[in-house]
Amino acid sequence: MSYKASNKLQDLQYFGEYGGVNPSISDSSTYTFLSAKKMFDTFEGNTEGCYLYSRHSSPANLYLGEALAAMEGTESANVTASGMGAITAVIMQLCNANEHIISSRTIYGGTYAFMKNFLKKFNIDTSFVDITNIDIVEKSITSNTKMIYCESVSNPLLEVADLIALSKLAKKYAIPLVVDNTFSPLTLAPAKLGADVVIHSLTKFINGTSDCVAGAVCGSTEFCLALKDVNNGAGMLLGSTLDSLRASSILKNMRTLHIRMQQHSYNAQYLSERFENDGLRVVYPGLESHSGHEILKKQMQNEFGFGGLLTIDVGSLEKANALMEMMQHQKLGYLAVSLGFYKTLFSAPGTSTSSEIPLEEQKQMGLSDGLIRFSIGLDNDIERTYKMMKSCMQKLGIISKKVMVN
Ligand code: PLP
Repeated sequence: MSYKASNKLQDLQYFGEYGGVNPSISDSSTYTFLSAKKMFDTFEGNTEGCYLYSRHSSPANLYLGEALAAMEGTESANVTASGMGAITAVIMQLCNANEHIISSRTIYGGTYAFMKNFLKKFNIDTSFVDITNIDIVEKSITSNTKMIYCESVSNPLLEVADLIALSKLAKKYAIPLVVDNTFSPLTLAPAKLGADVVIHSLTKFINGTSDCVAGAVCGSTEFCLALKDVNNGAGMLLGSTLDSLRASSILKNMRTLHIRMQQHSYNAQYLSERFENDGLRVVYPGLESHSGHEILKKQMQNEFGFGGLLTIDVGSLEKANALMEMMQHQKLGYLAVSLGFYKTLFSAPGTSTSSEIPLEEQKQMGLSDGLIRFSIGLDNDIERTYKMMKSCMQKLGIISKKVMVN
C-alpha cells in the first residue's frame, strides 16, 4: 500500500499558545464574540475558524480530529465521547426511518444491538450477512439500502473484510461504505481502499491507556460538517461530543501509536505461531491458516503487522474461565473486556462483549463457548509470556504435557 499514514502523522506539528510543544488545552464550554453579527453568522455556519460552543467544536477536538484524518487519509474527522457515540451518529445521519442497512454479522455486540433492537423504533431494518461473501452482500442490496457496514477486522471473530471489493460494490450502487477500523489502526487505512466513512473507538489502541472512552468519525469535509450542523447534524444534536481535556490527552498518547502497534502485532504473531504449533485452535490474521490472511496482506501497511488481537478456542466455557482466572493470578494480564492496553486483556466474548447476540446466531457465526479473545499487550519478553501461558494451559489440560518436550 502506498499511503503512508505514519508519515502524515509524523509531520504534524503544533505550537501551544505560549510556544509550548503541545497545543494549549481549550478550557471553555462557550466562546465570546466581539460582534453580535459574527455570532449569528457562526450559527449559520458561515464563518470559518470561529468557535461557538464546545458541543459543536473546540480547538482540542479539532487538533485530535486533524491527527485522525491524517492517519486515515480523509479530508476531515470529528471526535466523539465514545466509539458508540461515533457509530450511532453516523447511522442516524445516513439512514432515515423505513430504510435498510446491510451489516456484517460479526461486529461488536453494542453495534449489533443498536442495529437489531434500537433501530426498530425507526423501522430501520438491518440484514446481517457474511461480509466475506461479496455475492451475498450484493444480493442483499435493495432500493432502500442506505449503508453497507463492517469492521475491517471484526470483533470478536477477526474476520477480514475485503475492503477493495466491498467499496467497488458500494460505489456500483452509490451506497456509502462505513468501516469500523478499531481493531486495525495504521495496519489498514480503509478510506484509501475506497471506504466513505471510517469509524474508531479511540478507547482501544489509539488512546492505548484504558483510561477513557472516546470515538471518531473520519470522512469527507462535507460529511463531517453535516454531522456538526446545528439544525440537522446527528453529532451536534445527539450530543456525543468529546471533552477537550480528554481530546488533548488522547492526542498525546496517539504519538506513540506506531511503536505500540508494531509491538502488539509482533507479540500477537509470536504467540499465535507457537500456540498453533502446539495444536491449539488459534485465529490470528497473521497466520497463513487464517481465511483472510491473503486479503489483509494485500491491503495492509506491512510495517504495523497483523494487529494485536487473537482468539483461542480452549474447548469449553469452564476451561476458558479457569484459564483466564489463572492467567490473571499469574499477572499475565487482566480478565477484562476492551483492547489495546499495555497489558494483555482477555475475555470470553460469548458471555461478555458479544452477549447481545442471541446464542443461536453466535453458533451460526462460529462464536463458540470456549473462545477466548486476547488483546496482546506490549510485553518486552514475549517468550517468557508464552512459556507462562503454556504452563497454565498444561495445568488445565488444554495443552497436553507430552507436547511440552521442547
Ligand atoms: N467498535 C468496536 C470494534 C468495538 O470493539 C467497540 C467496543 O468494544 C466499539 C466500537 C464501541 O466503542 P466504545 O466502547 O468506545 O463506545
